[in-house]
Amino acid sequence: MSDAITAINLKRLIEAAASTIAAHADELTALDQAIGDGDHGYNMKRGFDALLGEADTLSAKPLPDALKAAGTKLVMTVGGASGPLFGTFLMALGKELPAEPSRVDFATAFGKAVDAVAARGKSEAGQKTMLDVLYPVRDALVAGKSGAEIATVAAHAADATVPMKAIRGRASFLGDRSIGHMDAGARSVSLLVATVAQTLGETA
Ligand code: ADP
Ligand code: MG
Repeated sequence: MSDAITAINLKRLIEAAASTIAAHADELTALDQAIGDGDHGYNMKRGFDALLGEADTLSAKPLPDALKAAGTKLVMTVGGASGPLFGTFLMALGKELPAEPSRVDFATAFGKAVDAVAARGKSEAGQKTMLDVLYPVRDALVAGKSGAEIATVAAHAADATVPMKAIRGRASFLGDRSIGHMDAGARSVSLLVATVAQTLGETA
């Protein structure tokens, strides 16, 4: 990961994230169909397409402002439970980051943004949600791991939601029947982390 996320690669990051979500929308929907209501892929695609539509405007802003604006856009467009949660994450990240963050600044701000998601969702680790990927990624960032290592941590963390029983979100309505399926939001976060890590690696 580069030391600074610049305005130049912010546009590239938005394009890469939107493209990943579009490519995996059916898979995310299928995961959500198994233990939720089957809208997650569609929700995420709508939100990331909206970010793509504003990529030029967003990438012209200083990074903290761009993240706050992107978070607001996701809250307005993604819908479902995940819209406010992804939106909260980006808004909190924007609030916590300096304009030219170092790796350490990024890890610290990422941790605070994950805490903001937990507060918004009244949720914690181990409840089969996106937090079960966000926390391990936070730990990997704090430990100074490389982008590729962080992407691997995220993928394993998403896999680790399969045997969990859902305690938060719609899947919790299924009780024990939520066991044996990957959480859709955890998969989304893992896909996005891998995309961001790869894209920053390209431009580092
Ligand atoms: P909805 O559940 O409203 O249909 P989505 O399908 O878009 O919304 O998103 C579902 C995902 O949101 C879940 O897979 C889970 O990762 C995440 N999620 C739901 N509720 C919470 C919560 N309280 N805390 C953290 N993440 C949550
Ligand atoms: Mg859903």
